[in-house]
Amino acid sequence: MRTSVITPEERKKAFTSPKKAEVIQKQRLNVRYHVEDFDVSDRPRRFLEAFAAILKHSNYRMVLDHFIRMTGRCSRCAVACHVYQATGDEKDIPCYRSGLLLDVYRRHFTLGGMMRGRVSGHGYLTDEKIQEMADSFWNCTACRRCALECPLGLDHGLITHLGRYILSEIGIVPRALVVSTRAQLEGPFKNTSAIPVPALKDTLEFLEDEMLEEKSVKIKFPTDADGSDYVFFAAVSDYLMEAESLMGIAAVFTATGDKWTIGTGYFDGINYGLFYSDRVLEKVVKKVDTETRRLNGKNILIGECGHASRTAKQFIPAYCGGDKALPVLNILEYTHKAWKQGKIKLNPDVVTEKVAYHDPCNYARNRWIVNQPREVLKSFCRNYVEMTPTGEDNVCCGGGGGTVSIDEIRPYRTTVGGKLKADQIRKSGCEILVAPCANCKKQLRELVEDQGLNCRVVGFHDLIYKAIVFDDSLKVPKDDAGKEMK
Ligand code: SF4
Ligand code: SF4
Repeated sequence: MRTSVITPEERKKAFTSPKKAEVIQKQRLNVRYHVEDFDVSDRPRRFLEAFAAILKHSNYRMVLDHFIRMTGRCSRCAVACHVYQATGDEKDIPCYRSGLLLDVYRRHFTLGGMMRGRVSGHGYLTDEKIQEMADSFWNCTACRRCALECPLGLDHGLITHLGRYILSEIGIVPRALVVSTRAQLEGPFKNTSAIPVPALKDTLEFLEDEMLEEKSVKIKFPTDADGSDYVFFAAVSDYLMEAESLMGIAAVFTATGDKWTIGTGYFDGINYGLFYSDRVLEKVVKKVDTETRRLNGKNILIGECGHASRTAKQFIPAYCGGDKALPVLNILEYTHKAWKQGKIKLNPDVVTEKVAYHDPCNYARNRWIVNQPREVLKSFCRNYVEMTPTGEDNVCCGGGGGTVSIDEIRPYRTTVGGKLKADQIRKSGCEILVAPCANCKKQLRELVEDQGLNCRVVGFHDLIYKAIVFDDSLKVPKDDAGKEMK
């Protein structure tokens, strides 16, 4: 067990925070669940059947058997949770939420629970319990901050995931996520934003022209190049919304000279399976693997997206070849290494504003990517500040675990889920907040807008693009009219 980072004062404050139960309740009950055609009165039976099937075909039973024996009720997890800290509602205490599912497991899937249930005739799963689970599991952002605090090693993010998975098997899952996943797995364009390949290519060409004009260097987005060192998968929404992040990444590759490519057979890094379904998760990571192998790529490279990176890093080995799986890395790791090797030069006079870095939970919670981006940023952002706490202890943006895609709960996300983050940003006084994750960027921009914060949210590579300095040998000569020759 590690030492708690929470002070006794913070603990006291968390348990005496003002409660605005009615307002909060109204804001968070807006989720539109996707419900397939089935008899709603039959939900308990269907839930238990789905739970049984998942237990049969997975390792969750081992975890659940461990967790049901470990109920300390010490409430350290409550103090760590940004949702509980904002609401003060005991139903937001992480172990209360996990208890909803653990009780079902105990009662219906353990010998002792089944025997006690038969004797007492109590404890059967009801429709109301299912509804409570549906609401509760989508209030948790699966950020796993509480898991750092639990002395008994309970991982509430994992229980949230399992609870959502079982619910999704009986058709209870936010509509926004299902629509995107269907577009990705069954739609004609095979990505969550339904971007056709010609539109992707048009966008990339447009960005190349922009970069030539701005940097006087031929910076390319190669597509379908065979045998590249890196096959690149961005969160596909970046092609619609994050031009500067993409341009920064292309600029880095131009500086290093390494071979990279975007595959037009499949180019979406997003994997909503991590949020609600192991079956979806497996299908999506296999698509990433298949496209990389089709192009004879040597490494899978994921863009600025926390959940996409974590799913690929953890589950490509699990589902796509074990020891023989292709290596996976995140673009921050790549850029950091290139910077350390002296392949990227950054102008320290370009970014003069106060800059802070937000740790996406999926990068930082297990200490995978914490110092790398900071080292690079501090080298050229002369006015760098830290938020407190940071790194593995960071506070979730409030839109984690897929909740950022549920537009109808934006008021809840930006006033409850993101409250602690907003306080942190305000306190840091930053003018630029670097958030190298597609989901965090969306949530933080909405948070900044709704909370009236005075800062701009950008990607990591947005700043790299601004500051990168190219060798003169890469500069394109200009024609007589002063225009770069293509
Ligand atoms: S995973 Fe995050 S949001 Fe969920 S209970 Fe734990 S701290 Fe709270
Ligand atoms: S920190 Fe762990 S042991 Fe303590 S109440 Fe939370 S889940 Fe239970």
